[in-house]
Amino acid sequence: MRWSQTLIPTLKETPAEAEIVSHKLLLRAGLIRKLAGGLYTFLPLGLRALRKVEQIVREEMNRAGALELLMPALQPPDIWQQSGRYESARDVLFKVRDRAKKEWLLGPTHEEVITTLVAGEINSYRQMPKNFYQIQTKFRDEIRPRFGLMRAKEFIMKDAYSFDATDEAAQASYRKMYDAYARIFQRCGLKTIAVEADTGVMGGKFSHEFMVPAETGENEVVFCDGCGYAANVEKAQSKVQGPKSTVPGLPIEKFATPGVVTIEALSKAPYNVAADCQIKTLVYMAESKIVLILVRGDDQLNEAKLVSTLGTATLRPAEPEEIFAALGAHPGSLGAVGVTKLPVYADERLRDAADMTTGANTDGFHFRNVAIGWDIQVAHWADLRLVQVGEPCPKCGQPLKVQRAIEVGHVFKLGTKYSKALNALFLDETGKQQPAIMGCYGIGVTRTLQAVIEQSHDDNGIIWPISVAPYTVCITPLSVAPESAVMQRAEQIYADLTARGIDVILDDRADRPGVKFKDSELVGFPIRIGIGERSLAKGEVEVKPRGGALMPVKAEEAVDKVLALIAASVV
Ligand code: ATP
Ligand code: MG
Repeated sequence: MRWSQTLIPTLKETPAEAEIVSHKLLLRAGLIRKLAGGLYTFLPLGLRALRKVEQIVREEMNRAGALELLMPALQPPDIWQQSGRYESARDVLFKVRDRAKKEWLLGPTHEEVITTLVAGEINSYRQMPKNFYQIQTKFRDEIRPRFGLMRAKEFIMKDAYSFDATDEAAQASYRKMYDAYARIFQRCGLKTIAVEADTGVMGGKFSHEFMVPAETGENEVVFCDGCGYAANVEKAQSKVQGPKSTVPGLPIEKFATPGVVTIEALSKAPYNVAADCQIKTLVYMAESKIVLILVRGDDQLNEAKLVSTLGTATLRPAEPEEIFAALGAHPGSLGAVGVTKLPVYADERLRDAADMTTGANTDGFHFRNVAIGWDIQVAHWADLRLVQVGEPCPKCGQPLKVQRAIEVGHVFKLGTKYSKALNALFLDETGKQQPAIMGCYGIGVTRTLQAVIEQSHDDNGIIWPISVAPYTVCITPLSVAPESAVMQRAEQIYADLTARGIDVILDDRADRPGVKFKDSELVGFPIRIGIGERSLAKGEVEVKPRGGALMPVKAEEAVDKVLALIAASVV
């Protein structure tokens, strides 16, 4: 490709709309342009990089035995009603109407569609295992589309769905995808960590997310250097101490705490009740049901854990009026002492706790000497707390660390939730009808592309790994007069490299050398060949790996040098 013939609208200034470096560079290097919030056009260079990521994904999916197909983006709502997600996923669903006013959904994901397909096509254990995948546009009505391709309303996902006859086989399918994901991200030049993840509205049994460590990531990963334990903070656990006292002492006593509405205020004089001796009472609306949640005063509730404990997708903190109506007090004075009409969920760390202090459900009053099991009846125990940095690893006890990260892929063991709901049944070896055991596996292809940039750049621009670079080599002749020795040499190297199957761009613009060098650094081509009159007079050209040092090379050896650099590259 000749630079002058394509469209690479590089920008000197950083567009105001971009907050994070990878988004800025996508715009500045002329890879994408915004149409509207969360909607982007891929320009020729951006599309080339995207296609390379897609190709890596495709090759590794095929290698793992998955079968490519393509499902409609437009989906009928009834299958979503059948799976229960018409309600539980309603926040992200884009709905459209046809001329007959019938409603359709723009698919945010395809479990319902693939399961409907399999229900019709697979009916015997002999037809499994099967794993189907597609690379396709998804639509999600995100609350906050931002960071360019990272969180868009329309994006490209690779989604795969496995169907197995037995649990062991499903396990093997899951493992294959996990391994394929590790290879895909490695080939894209990305460092990822696989972390245990929450299964959220997907339902399902367990899952791993593939995370790219980055300060700008929207996720937090908890990990242990000692044993390699790693989990999304939504799911992470730690080995923390239980209650200070489990022996009920003095009888429960109500005392006045005028104006005290925080854990902190109660921990100060004249009360001096340490936060870890207090019970924090939170009130939530789970669908339309009010529930009480208890965690220790110095702990934070982890809402994701609460969602999976309650098994409900729609959860919100109750409004003060709802709380007052249920408990007769306002936040700050709430407690579960004597509460029998509302379900009480408590964090494991409070199990058998005695000598605790909590709100008395009367504004301005608290109870002290409260013992769980005696004064408070807990209906459901669960791990509900947010893990804090430095707490002991649940596996080996070493202090846990926390790191921000970008989720680029997600593998789920789903079980039979969708196959049961949508009748993907098969006859097993004994002739018994069973629901297929499913897994689902997603990669944000467009997000992955941006994550590569977020992880690999410097002050001058993008540093593409060869595997996903829009062009591997950029030839930069310093003068472009057609008959000049410089241009002739440039044309020859261009022809030779192209003949060897290398993706090359020839910067044939009549711009100043400084401008051309800056642009090639900004776009981040892995190898640049600079050709100037002075060095060519010595029979040399200058080969420069992006981010590496400039190497004078004999002009006739330039092609071999570049081929050697490409061959030696790890990606
Ligand atoms: P997130 O937690 O970031 O919203 P998710 O868990 O809802 O993502 P999945 O349903 O697991 O996402 O989708 C599979 C992959 O698709 C994700 O790992 C992510 O890489 C990508 N993805 C999800 N939502 C978006 C989005 N709005 N824009 C771009 N990529 C996305
Ligand atoms: Mg996910």
